[in-house]
Amino acid sequence: MKRSTKTGLLVGLVGVMTGVVWWQIPIEKRTYGLSQTAMTTDYTGLMPEKVAQINEVKKREELVAIVKEAQKAKRTISIAGLQHSQGGHTYYKDGIVIDMRAFNRVLSVNEQQKTVKVEAGASWMDVQEALAKKGLALRVTQSQSIFTIGGSLSVNAHGRDIRYGSMASTVRELTIVNAQGEFETLKRGRDDERLQYILGGYGLFGVIVDVTLDVTDNTVYTMHTTEMKMADYAPHMRSILKDDRIAMHYARISVAPNSFLEDVYTIDYEKMEAIDHTSPLKGESSERLSKLGLDLGRQGGALENGFWQLQRGYMKLIDDKEINRNDAMRSESTFMEYTKPGRVEVLQEFFVPLDEFEAYVNELQQVLPHDDKKNDVKVHNITLRYVAKDDATALNYATDDMMGFVVLLQHGTSEQSIEEAKTLIRQWTDVTLKHEGTYYLPYYPYQTTDQFKKAYPNAASVYDEKQQQDPDIIFRNYFYDNYVKHAND
Ligand SMILES: Cc1cc2nc3c(=O)[nH]c(=O)nc-3n(C[C@H](O)[C@H](O)[C@H](O)COP(=O)(O)OP(=O)(O)OC[C@H]3O[C@@H](n4cnc5c(N)ncnc54)[C@H](O)[C@@H]3O)c2cc1C
Repeated sequence: MKRSTKTGLLVGLVGVMTGVVWWQIPIEKRTYGLSQTAMTTDYTGLMPEKVAQINEVKKREELVAIVKEAQKAKRTISIAGLQHSQGGHTYYKDGIVIDMRAFNRVLSVNEQQKTVKVEAGASWMDVQEALAKKGLALRVTQSQSIFTIGGSLSVNAHGRDIRYGSMASTVRELTIVNAQGEFETLKRGRDDERLQYILGGYGLFGVIVDVTLDVTDNTVYTMHTTEMKMADYAPHMRSILKDDRIAMHYARISVAPNSFLEDVYTIDYEKMEAIDHTSPLKGESSERLSKLGLDLGRQGGALENGFWQLQRGYMKLIDDKEINRNDAMRSESTFMEYTKPGRVEVLQEFFVPLDEFEAYVNELQQVLPHDDKKNDVKVHNITLRYVAKDDATALNYATDDMMGFVVLLQHGTSEQSIEEAKTLIRQWTDVTLKHEGTYYLPYYPYQTTDQFKKAYPNAASVYDEKQQQDPDIIFRNYFYDNYVKHAND
């Protein structure tokens, strides 16, 4: 055989083997959710519980019947969207769960007024499908579109937008079924006093039935990516806030051992003239590549250094590329799934005022392990977001213009591992509180009630309002029991 033929065969063989290995990279799906026969869990599966009844809702009248029935039977009600919350927010022992996922119609899109009216069990994907056809896009949403509208409003979510304020402030009008089993329609400007408890209210003040949201144009943006040192980040953030051309932003901060909390890269979205009326929404691509990268990072040590370098390479690839607003608000999520038995990956998020950013990161440098390869608790990723001051909700985490630190961490599921994670998160929360910061509430309940009360000084008013609106505590979940219930202790 000729030498060139042999080389060709060898290259072909390596190609086939690489392909085979490639397709073996598992794209797992977590098993979690509602179950009548087995245990009910949420996204982490860390707090399994047996519930009495699960009611899938398709029509609004069914909600009234469920609440009236629960009153008679003296049962509690919890409300579940897509259950990406992580601390038992969507179910309660021996209670009724309302499964909102089939209550998901987009009712109308008003192009003149730039609004969308939607049932609360719809996902942002459903809403984006309807808006994209009209050249419209959401004002504020998470960086992914895998959540329901009701679930997102009930945590008052945030994402990459830096111009439109809080998600709660984009609500024009909403209808709820209250604890007495009545429909109530509440309007922004007229009913703000009530809305502040329902929005960011974790399903404790009634079922959100449908909502009218302000939307905006599906503008085309150019992405600009910049590498910088941590000390240059806050000045960069201040400068883009003054620059009206920049509409969206996020950043990643290194958690790799050799540049831990020192290196940052930023992604700024600059407005172009064009509005996209025609492009189909982007789907997920290269999940396996992203999964391979994240799996490398999960090994810690030198491989985590390698993963950071890979991410830097990716940033260079997307620099100066165009993207429309809808696509910028639906980044990929499948690659994040993690299903190793005995381990779990969870999120935590901390917020500090922009003015505290540098001092806060300097202190975190002292408190957090730079190389956690050998530790049970491992920090895999920190993304930074800007979150504008929120005056629309009572449980407001953005008490000022804040920087959010979204932390992806992994730990074991044994009691001891959870205790270790708790210790680290409580320490991190103390540092955050010291810098006038807060933390996000949809996640696993690591924080103490005392930390909750410090981060949320309005919690007592939320407790009082709850006693007034729902004295029998019909709407109940573990967030109520772990935190709100103790707000006046
Ligand atoms: C991978 C991942 C990425 C995330 N990224 C972001 C992010 O970028 N930004 C961000 O802000 N958050 C983020 N989160 C958190 C997420 O926004 C919240 O967990 C959100 O609640 C998820 O929506 P859901 O439909 O899954 O709500 P669920 O978890 O089902 O419900 C959350 C809360 O809302 C209540 N609820 C649900 N539907 C209704 C209703 N119709 N009426 C009244 N109450 C209701 C529930 O009772 C519960 O208290 C992320 C979470 C994960 C797991």
